[in-house]
This record gives sequence, C-alpha cells and structure tokens, in this order.
Amino acid sequence: MPKVFIRTYGCQMNERDSAQVAQMLRERGYGMTEAEAEADVVLINTCSVRDQAEQKALNKMASLQHLRKTRPHLVYGFMGCMAQSRGDELLDAGADLVVGTQKYHRVADYVAEIFKARSEARMDDLRTAIVDTDEEEGSQNTIRDGAAAPGAAAAFVSIMQGCNMKCSFCIVPYTRGSERGRPIAEIVAEVRGLAEGGVREVTLLGQIVNLYGRHEFPAVDGKSPFVQLLERVAAVDGIERVRFTSPHPVGYKQDLIEAFGRIPELCEHVHFPLQSGSDKILKAMRRPYKAAKFEELCARMRAVRPDIAITTDIIVGFPGEGDAEYRETRDLCERLRFDNAFVFRYSKRRGTPAAEMDDSLQLPERVKEERNQDLLKVVDRICSEKNDALVGTRQQVLCEGPSKRKADRLAGRTRTNKLVIFEGDRERLTGQLLDIDIDLCTGHVLYGKVARAEPAARPAAQRLATAG
Ligand code: SF4
Repeated sequence: MPKVFIRTYGCQMNERDSAQVAQMLRERGYGMTEAEAEADVVLINTCSVRDQAEQKALNKMASLQHLRKTRPHLVYGFMGCMAQSRGDELLDAGADLVVGTQKYHRVADYVAEIFKARSEARMDDLRTAIVDTDEEEGSQNTIRDGAAAPGAAAAFVSIMQGCNMKCSFCIVPYTRGSERGRPIAEIVAEVRGLAEGGVREVTLLGQIVNLYGRHEFPAVDGKSPFVQLLERVAAVDGIERVRFTSPHPVGYKQDLIEAFGRIPELCEHVHFPLQSGSDKILKAMRRPYKAAKFEELCARMRAVRPDIAITTDIIVGFPGEGDAEYRETRDLCERLRFDNAFVFRYSKRRGTPAAEMDDSLQLPERVKEERNQDLLKVVDRICSEKNDALVGTRQQVLCEGPSKRKADRLAGRTRTNKLVIFEGDRERLTGQLLDIDIDLCTGHVLYGKVARAEPAARPAAQRLATAG
C-alpha cells in the first residue's frame, strides 16, 4: 500500500482540507504515515497569510528532496494557498504536483496520473509534473465527507469557501476566490455523519463565517442563513457543542448575538478578529468598521452571555501605524480584556494592495518587533488574570484524548475554549463531557481533577427546545 505523508501549515481550514485529502486518498487505497522516510507521496498544504508560513513550507519541501535519491518514485506536492498564488513556479522548488485551493478533490487523481506516467516512461524521465490552480464551480461542495480522525470527539466542518472582503493585507481573496456557501442540508448531513461516528463538538469553518450563505440563501424570520445553520447543526442528535471561526465584525448582527443566549450547544466563545484599534489603520486595512463598533459588538455579546470568552487577531506594524495608532490598539486591548489574542507583525504579502503602499509608510522590523512584544505582554497578563480566576471553579470539559505535550495526561477544552490538562483513563474518558475542578493555572493552560463524567446524551426535551 503506497504511503502518504501530509504536512499542514496555517489555519484550521487548511487542517480540514488536509483531512479531506487524506480521507480521499485512503478511499483510493493509500495509507497515511507520519514517517517522511517511508512515504511514497509527500504533500505540503500551504498557507500564504504570512511570509513565515510560506518559508516554512518551502524549507520543508527542500529538506525532503534528499529522499528522491533512495525513493525515485516519490511524488512531491504542494496544495493550498501558496500553491494557488505561485502555481508552476513551485515546480522549481521541488514539487511534481501543484494543486490550488479549488482542486483538493483532484489530488488523488493527479497522484495516480503521475505514478502511471512514470511507470510508462523511461526510468530517466521521472519528472512528470501536474499544475492545476484553475477555478472550479461548486468546489466548496467537495470538502464535505465528515473527515474526523478515528475516535475523535471534535471535528471541523467547512461550510463555505472564499471571501469577498479584500482586506488590503490579505492574500485569501486571491487564493480562495469569492464567497461560496454549501447548502444547509448537506452540511447538516455531514454533521449527522460525524455525530454517528462519535463526534460531539463541531467547529464550523469559513473565512467570514457569519456571512455564510448571504448570496445563496434568504433570511427567514429575521435570521440570517448562518444563524439558521447554527440552529440546525445544534439540533443534530449527539452534537453537544457548536463553535465557529472566524467571523467578521461586518454583518455581525443581533440575531447572531442572541443565538449565544438561546442555543445551549453554541459555546460561549468567539474568535473575533479586531486587527487594529485605530480607525485610521482599519481604514488603510480596508476593514469597513470602526474600533468603537467593534467595542460595542463585544459589549452586546457580553450582555447576552456575560461569561463569553472573546479572543482575537491583531496586526502590529501595519504601514502608517505611528505610536499614537499603536497606542489606540493597546488601549483597546486593555479595555476589552480579550481572553487571548494572536498578535502578528505585519509582513508584506505579494499581490496584496498593502504591499504596494508607499515605502515611506513601511515600519522598521525593530519597531514591529517592539510593538509585538509589548502587546503580547498586555495580552498574556490579561489572559493569566482571567485564567487565574477560574482556579477553584468547576468547568465542563470535552476530553479530546492524550495531551500533546504530556502523553500520560489527558487534554480537553472548556466551553470557552481554554485548554485543560488532567489525569484519567484514556479509553474511558476520551470523547466524554467531564466536570473538572480547576486547581492550577500556568498562564494559558489550566490543570484540574475529574469531578464527574456526564452521560453521553442530552435530554430529549432540551434537544427539542433547540431544534430550529
Ligand atoms: S475578511 Fe479580510 S482578512 Fe479575512 S479572509 Fe477576508 S480578506 Fe482576508
């Protein structure tokens, strides 16, 4: 059985796409491996959002080229955003296969084609290559087979592809195309299949997930297509938790805010990208909202769910960000008290409008780094304070299995998406909702002891009350 090694960089959507490709390859008789040296196919799923991610993917491909010497039949492939944006120039980086973001479902065919071409070719003609970065109508519907690792308690579900927002720093609209939503019924069917396989938590994925279906499906009873979808997914038997990522402040309406108060399965956590606390920089980023609007939306969510955890993304060092603009971002972080934040230094992405901005607006790396470190201190302090406050409380945790860092312990997440480490029987507790008494916090991580394991199913009455 030929073996496939897949390495994924970037966001949860990429992880979901890789899982789908792995599933399709398994169905075609391939096995997956974590050992590069025994692979017959190496696939690197790439991210173009930051330069660092692109460099990592290129370095990984370069570092694996030596395998060709002992395994000349080996097929190397790039998939995803960098594959989409760079296309056939990646053949020079060692790839035999370059597959764009709308062609994941073709990977298995292309791998087979390359193997076949090679078996029919002379032994010195091993560099048969395929590049496919074309658009394909309906490609959003191909990421759909409920790919979850065997025994997984949580899974990602891709509900849409693309983005129409065109933020000036972002490559995604150019690599993932325009917004395309999958039909609600197909998504619900996928979630049902996941639940039947033991999944209890699903995270709905989209680049601007709250705008799901705005071009395809009508609002019903004042509810957007996304809120209708949340209700339907939450009502699936066996699904205890629903999350989504990432929403955009534009189109974040009251029907969604109220959903946090009335859909019990909808976890009280939102990852809500701010990007900057300065209106001047938001405008330059082409983010069509003001900092005050973002603050107001957070306040409205907290009014409905006072215990909601809000995390965010922030870019520091965007072109034109002076001390005053940075200070506005820092002050807003102090006021909003995010549960956590990913802080990024701005890096030019070729092909984006921000990359064309005047050189005089670009900031030195030293300034970006100082602001990055300074803001991380603010974020980490607030994160620790919030997590410290949970010591002594009892939290519901979905046990996801062994901890990645400490394999002799178990790991899971609270409804607010905080990581909890605890001891227990792996076989018995994985996939279970547990009550954990939190007794320690080390900044970002909570530790605790199992107080109680909940029965697997929710009461029927609660389920009926949430069916949309
Ligand atoms: S909303 Fe902006 S940052 Fe997010 S994917 Fe779309 S263009 Fe990129």
